[in-house]
Amino acid sequence: MQNKKTSTLMIPGPVEVSPAVYEALTAPIASHVSPKILEAHGAALEKMRKVWLASDDSQPFIIGGSGTIAMEMAATNVVEPGDKVVVMNSGYFGDRMALMLERRGVEVHSIFAEEIGAHPSLDALSEALKNKDIKAVFGTHVDTSTGVRLDAEVVAKLAREAGARSVFDGVCATAGEVFRMQEWGADVYFTASQKAIALPPGLALMVVSQDGIEARKRMSSLPPLSLDWMEWLPVMKAYEERRGSYFSTPPTHLISALDISLGHILNRGIENVFDDHQKAADLFRATFEKMGLVLVPKKGLAANTLSAVYYGAHPGIVQALKDRGFIIAGGLHPEIKAQYFRIGHMGYSVGEGNDDMKGLLNALENL
Ligand SMILES: *Cc1c(COP(=O)(O)O)cnc(C)c1O
Repeated sequence: MQNKKTSTLMIPGPVEVSPAVYEALTAPIASHVSPKILEAHGAALEKMRKVWLASDDSQPFIIGGSGTIAMEMAATNVVEPGDKVVVMNSGYFGDRMALMLERRGVEVHSIFAEEIGAHPSLDALSEALKNKDIKAVFGTHVDTSTGVRLDAEVVAKLAREAGARSVFDGVCATAGEVFRMQEWGADVYFTASQKAIALPPGLALMVVSQDGIEARKRMSSLPPLSLDWMEWLPVMKAYEERRGSYFSTPPTHLISALDISLGHILNRGIENVFDDHQKAADLFRATFEKMGLVLVPKKGLAANTLSAVYYGAHPGIVQALKDRGFIIAGGLHPEIKAQYFRIGHMGYSVGEGNDDMKGLLNALENL
């Protein structure tokens, strides 16, 4: 076969995908309103609620696009020009979110982590929420530039108590890190297909609470047409009822593959999938410790989906692993970019019956 795989991709997205996903991606081209695609689309929407642990009345959206498009959709549908928001900033993607919201004409109060690898202060958030004009709190569940996991449960609950919406960038977290959308009362949780969902890039995915949809309905300054939940809502409802509908052509192959990937996650059980990621992260962290390497996130804050690690005595680690058949990533945070590397351990790569992770751990131990 021409496209034979020659290395294993363990960066923080895209990640490796399952053989069943590959197969779905090479199916004959089909109409977006054919029974087969309508079934996959409808079933994928239903499965999203279960993977997100969201309520029955929450609204899932499957949109052609990247994680950044999903972020833009959230930023433009929840708040409008003149609104006030808080951004819990734990790295590069928090900066992007704030920039996006500022472009929307929103007044942004960022709460920054005091140093790289730290958690933005929850006390500062409580303090900021005393201002009853705060419409929403935005946060990055796992910031891929620092490997820090936000305490999304506490952030969502504080926002809800203050009557504000909460929006979480789950692009490097959803289906890897524990997130209980209904129980925590979160309003928007978005991701992209190429992270822990384990598909190629190309899908922007999100689930929105009814309060989130209501926030959009009350808006007088409308989002760009192609990003407007109100345009997509009837289409998503129709697909869930397995009825044909059209606003903009959906990426049919990716949607078929999404149904399969979410099916794998639910067959394993979402709680087991969370545990698999915890165990994978623990194994990597134990290995780094043995190697004398130090994590970028401070103690207790490290994500389970990726590790961000200072080079220490291994400045050539990216190339050394490449020579052994594993692709890992360099740094992303502008201030420490040259000082650390990142390994993605999420999705199919950490699941049962897959040796990718074992292979990489073994390569690390034998460097
Ligand atoms: C990857 C990532 C994004 C951006 O996703 P793209 O698909 O590259 O646009 C946003 N936020 C986080 C936390 C990410 O890890």
